[in-house]
Amino acid sequence: MPRVTSGMDMNGKIAALLRDFAAIQKSKQRMWGYKRAAGAILTLEEPIESFLQPDGTLRKIPNIGPSSARVILEVLQTGSSPTVEKAISESGQTGDIERRRDLRGHFLSRAQVLAALRNKTLTGPRLEDYRGDLQMHSTWSDGSQSLEDIIETGIARGYSFSAVTDHSYGLKIARGVSMAQLAQQHHEIDRLNRKHRGAFRLLKGIEANIRADGSVDMEPDELDLLEIVVAAPHSALRVATDQTARMVKAVTTRGVHILGHPRGRKYGSRPGVTADWRKVFKAAVRSRVAIEIDGDPSRQDLDYELARGAVEAGCLFALDSDAHSTGELRYAETAVAHARLAGVPVDRIINCWPLEQLLQWAAELRIKN
Ligand SMILES: [Zn+2]
Repeated sequence: MPRVTSGMDMNGKIAALLRDFAAIQKSKQRMWGYKRAAGAILTLEEPIESFLQPDGTLRKIPNIGPSSARVILEVLQTGSSPTVEKAISESGQTGDIERRRDLRGHFLSRAQVLAALRNKTLTGPRLEDYRGDLQMHSTWSDGSQSLEDIIETGIARGYSFSAVTDHSYGLKIARGVSMAQLAQQHHEIDRLNRKHRGAFRLLKGIEANIRADGSVDMEPDELDLLEIVVAAPHSALRVATDQTARMVKAVTTRGVHILGHPRGRKYGSRPGVTADWRKVFKAAVRSRVAIEIDGDPSRQDLDYELARGAVEAGCLFALDSDAHSTGELRYAETAVAHARLAGVPVDRIINCWPLEQLLQWAAELRIKN
C-alpha cells in the first residue's frame, strides 16, 4: 500500500518552514539559498523521511546546504524547528509570516502528487486517461518552448492533442500576442498539423484575460478564430472583496471554453479571487464551460478541496499544466493528482475525451457554430 496523502506531508511542512526562514533573511543570498532549498524539498519524489540515515544524518540532497539540512533534521526529530521559530519571533515579522502560512492551504508536494497517482483507492482520472494538455505557452508569448517542442513533448508523453494558449494582446506584461501575430501562429499550426497528421493535433488556443468587470479582453469575432479559449483572471488577486459577479460573467461569456486558474492564487504569497464558488460553478455548468485545475506547482488552482464543490455542482473540468517550457509539461500530473483526490469523474474531464468529442464540444461553445 503506497503512502496516502492524508497523512502528514513532511516535505510540504519543511518546505514551508524554509520559505518562512527565507522571508525573514536580511541577506539576499541567504534568502535565495533557503528558497532554493524549499523548492528542492517540494520537488523531491520521495518523502523526506526516506533520506534519513541510520546514523541520524541526512542523505545528500541537491541544493540543500548545511543550515537547511539542520532545519530539516530538527523537524524530523522534533516535529518543528526551534531555529526557525526563534528567528521568526526575533525578526518582528510574525504577522507577515502568519499571513504567508495561511496562503499554503491544500498545496501538494511532488512526493504527494506521485503518491496520489499511485494510490489505487482513489477514484478519478489515471495518467493513462489523459490525452492532451489544454493550457500551454510558447515562444509566441512568454514561454520558452516552440510549437514543435510542444508537439514532440506531447507525443513523447503519449498525448494525441494539446492546445497552445499564449496570452492575449490585453496582457502586455506577459508579452500577449497581437491578432496579426496570432494569424501567423495559426498558419504555422496548420503547417505542423499537416506534418503530424494522424499522430497529433495542435489546437489553436488563447489565454484571454478576465477584466475587473468580468468581460474578456478580446472581441467576439476574435474569439471565434480560436478553437480553445481559456479565460483567466490576472488582476485584483489580492483583494478580499467579493468577486462572484466577475467570475459568473466570465464563465457565461459566449466563446469561452475554460475558466483558467480560477482563483489566481500563488503559493505563500497571494490568496487570489474571493467569490461564492458554488454560484460560479453552477453558472459554468449551465454554460458548459470547463473549470480548470491548473497544475503549476505554485498555483494548484483549483485545489482538490474546492474541486470537490465543482464535482458536486456537476462541472466539466480541464486539467492543464500551464507549462511555459517543455520541462513543465509534467505539471499536468499535479492537476491529475488533485482531480484524483477530488474524485472527478473521468467522463467530465475534457482532456480525457477523444479528440472528436473535444472538438465537437468546443465548436458548440463558439459564438458562430
Ligand atoms: Zn494565466
